[in-house]
Parts: sequence; structure tokens; C-alpha cells
Amino acid sequence: MAKLTLYYGTMETGKTTKLIQDHYNYSKYLLKVILLKPKVDTKGGSTVVTRIGENIKCDLLIPKTANLLSKKYFDKYKYMQFILVDEAQFLTKRQVNELWFIAHKYNINVVCYSLKSNFKGDLFEGSSQLLARSDEKHELTVNCSCGKTAMFNARRVNGKYIYDGKEVVIDGAYENVEYIPLCSDCYLSFVLNGKMPK
Ligand SMILES: [Zn+2]
Repeated sequence: MAKLTLYYGTMETGKTTKLIQDHYNYSKYLLKVILLKPKVDTKGGSTVVTRIGENIKCDLLIPKTANLLSKKYFDKYKYMQFILVDEAQFLTKRQVNELWFIAHKYNINVVCYSLKSNFKGDLFEGSSQLLARSDEKHELTVNCSCGKTAMFNARRVNGKYIYDGKEVVIDGAYENVEYIPLCSDCYLSFVLNGKMPK
């Protein structure tokens, strides 16, 4: 039977590299695969890009308002064996439930690749529901520059760590925004300056 699988972690844990590898492997065995991406992520437009320069064409962009069970979308993947979703943290809670339903009702495997938390350390709507609904979960990790396991995606603007702002500001969309994987100790000291957040 099909299942909903989640790969999640901070920035730079190789989520998209894993997606591209999985896509290649499934295609190699002639399995029918479709690649989806929430439309809010403007990085690379309709292309899925990794930080090490590989890229792959996305088959379908999903706006926040899309009902994944509606004919318009469902017709695109009803004969697929795998649905892969890049940047799945940007799915809505309802869309995650729809993907869970598709996996179990229609026997199509769904594999989501997602950031766990935003730059403040809170779960995204999509990752929160994916952690609740996925049949299988795999955490991918990367080390902070100090050597400990990174827990946070700290936002840095013009080289300075910041704790305020909108949840979604895509790196690369503004040249001066970047995200740095930090461990808890480095996040507390560099981003929160040792203080309890408001
Ligand atoms: Zn650290």
C-alpha cells in the first residue's frame, strides 16, 4: 500500500538533492513520477534547484488556494505511482491532509521534502501537519559551524542576524537575505543575544 513519507530538516541538509536522486531512481525503473512545488517558493521559478547547482523541471506548481483533490489537479497525477513535493513546508494544512488522503485512498505514494521550522524556530503550517500525518518520517541533519547539530534556520540580512520580519522571505529573492543553519547555543547567542524571545 502507498504511504505519505516526509524528509525534513534545516537548510543545507540535502533535501532537494535527495529529491533529485529519488526522482532519478524512480524514473530509471520506469515508475510514473510527478514533481510538485508550492507556488510561494519563487526560487528558480518552476525549476527545482539545489544549492550545489543541480536542477530539475517541476511538473506542477501548487497555489495556496489549490484543492489537490479537484479534477484540475487530480487528473495530472491519478495514474502516477509517486508524487514528490519540494519545499513542502509551504503547503497548507488542508493540502497536507489531501495528500494523505490521495496516498491512502488512491494508493499513490507521496514523498514530501520540507524545512522543519522558520527563522524564528517555529514549525511552518505545512511541516507541522506533515509531522502529524506522515506514515514515515526521516530527519536530515547538518552541523552548525561550531560542530553541533543545527536546529535553526537563522535569517541574516546584510550579514546581520535578525529575529523580526515576515515568515516567508525567500533567499535569493533579495540579494541581502540568507539563511544559516545554527545549533541551539549559537542561535541563542547570535540571534537572540542570550535573551528569551518575546
Ligand atoms: Zn553552533
